[in-house]
Amino acid sequence: MIPFLQYCSKKGKSLLLKITGTNHVFGHKLWAKDFPKPTEEIHTKYLIVGGGISGLSACRFFSQNNENDYLLLEMENHLGGNSSNGQNQFSKFPLGAHYLPLPNKENIEIIEFLKECKIYQGDDENGDPILDEYQMTFPQQERLFFKNSWQNDIVPQKGISPETQKEMDRFFKMMDHFRDKKDLSGKYFFAIPLEDSSAEDEVLQLEKMIFKDWLHQQNFKSEELFWLLDYSCRDDYGLGIDYVSAWAGIHYFAGRKNNWSKKYKDQVFTWPEGNARLAKHFSKYTNGKSSPNHLVFDVKINDTIEVLSFDNIQKKTKKIIAGKVLFATPQFVNERIFNHKRAGNFNYVPWLLTTITLKNEFGGDEELAWDNVIYGSDGLGYIYDQHQNIDQILGEKVITYYRSFSTADCKKARKKLYALKEDQLKNLVLDDLKKAHPLIEDFIIEMQFHKIGHAMIAPVPNQIFGKQEVKQPIDGKIFFAHSDLSGISIFEEAFYQGLRTAKDML
Ligand SMILES: Cc1cc2nc3c(=O)[nH]c(=O)nc-3n(C[C@H](O)[C@H](O)[C@H](O)COP(=O)(O)OP(=O)(O)OC[C@H]3O[C@@H](n4cnc5c(N)ncnc54)[C@H](O)[C@@H]3O)c2cc1C
Repeated sequence: MIPFLQYCSKKGKSLLLKITGTNHVFGHKLWAKDFPKPTEEIHTKYLIVGGGISGLSACRFFSQNNENDYLLLEMENHLGGNSSNGQNQFSKFPLGAHYLPLPNKENIEIIEFLKECKIYQGDDENGDPILDEYQMTFPQQERLFFKNSWQNDIVPQKGISPETQKEMDRFFKMMDHFRDKKDLSGKYFFAIPLEDSSAEDEVLQLEKMIFKDWLHQQNFKSEELFWLLDYSCRDDYGLGIDYVSAWAGIHYFAGRKNNWSKKYKDQVFTWPEGNARLAKHFSKYTNGKSSPNHLVFDVKINDTIEVLSFDNIQKKTKKIIAGKVLFATPQFVNERIFNHKRAGNFNYVPWLLTTITLKNEFGGDEELAWDNVIYGSDGLGYIYDQHQNIDQILGEKVITYYRSFSTADCKKARKKLYALKEDQLKNLVLDDLKKAHPLIEDFIIEMQFHKIGHAMIAPVPNQIFGKQEVKQPIDGKIFFAHSDLSGISIFEEAFYQGLRTAKDML
């Protein structure tokens, strides 16, 4: 992360503005590759490149299967990738992923992991899981600023027409149907991991069309319903209903089966630092076996694999000679390391996160919910990072505002985001938040803007089922695992990608 600090004085009050982000300056060195010749050689049986959840999940698998000859290289100065966090004097806060929904009961690998983390603590006498409630949301979980006031729940309710209500009911009934729908071989149409989903023609057709076109085809018209679906897709995929496939749009509602716990159906796992908490659970598998600040930039296949990596602390290049290598890195990075595109375009949506520290009086008598969403807004609302803190009424408040740039031209949006300066970012965020909090500026102590240029793969048509070849290993020695190979960027997919590939490698 590269912080830039700026103080901005408003009516005599000073406000700290700070820009951070993934280390794209270091990452962009992959374009020129003007690194020194290697001066050190390291030997390992298995090399893992990329310390996000997929790389970490692979390390866990190796270790749990008594294979301890492995090394993980990560270009940032910390592990976690998109599941990382920051911290100020008042709270930890996410710098990427911030929650994990309850897994489907079929997803036994994730359930096993939650048990290992002591989040899942066994079953009660009815067979329902006992979960650590301190690591979950509780009321008020979410609220929506709609028609000038806050309502519980993010499905618009106040004053909606009977026609809209009918459409909402019809849409959710369809999603109930899709949630349970299986093909003749018993595969769900919409599963997690995505690879377990049916590949029947009906499914493939849905992946070829845009979600909005499918909605029109089904005769949906309601403005409020379209807003809700657009918001949901932007929230999980970065892009809205004008861009994602119908399959991805439906998967958002039908992929999660709500079948593991009766008691905690509508809650999710979360932490002040977001999914960085989950990333930290992997540290026992990476202690002494990982090197941050190492940018991998080249690979050669001989009897063994030779990987070149630049150590950004010692400022030298190292040659790693490995039996097998796992690239748990996104495809736009792999294209540079391998010097060619292995599959058609992978479209990455840029995101901006803004962590805002506010005086305690912010919000007045109104309690903030965990997730606070503004109807019709360009952003995705904000998370109250201290939601689970029992002392939350005492100190300053820390919230994290999320915004994805939903557009047909992600490259242009990414360039624009990188160019934005502190004051422009401040206006972008506050113009949006002022719709619900007109006086917010009077309460702000600090704003930290976190730019992620290539934040997340976009499940546009043909992304999920259409890019199979890129998952294939090369010569049985080079393997690939990253959530973008699933086509949907969520914890479960990253975890699965790492696990699946590590199994194949052993
Ligand atoms: C803003 C945002 C919000 C999100 N919110 C959620 C959420 O709430 N819940 C959820 O489940 N998911 C969420 N996600 C999705 C999140 O991306 C996944 O959950 C998961 O963290 C992805 O892990 P990964 O290993 O696939 O990829 P990454 O996190 O991208 O990991 C790849 C790693 O490779 C490293 N790397 C890249 N190039 C090189 C190189 N050349 N050499 C060495 N290392 C390299 C990177 O630095 C990175 O650490 C969110 C994502 C974003 C961007």
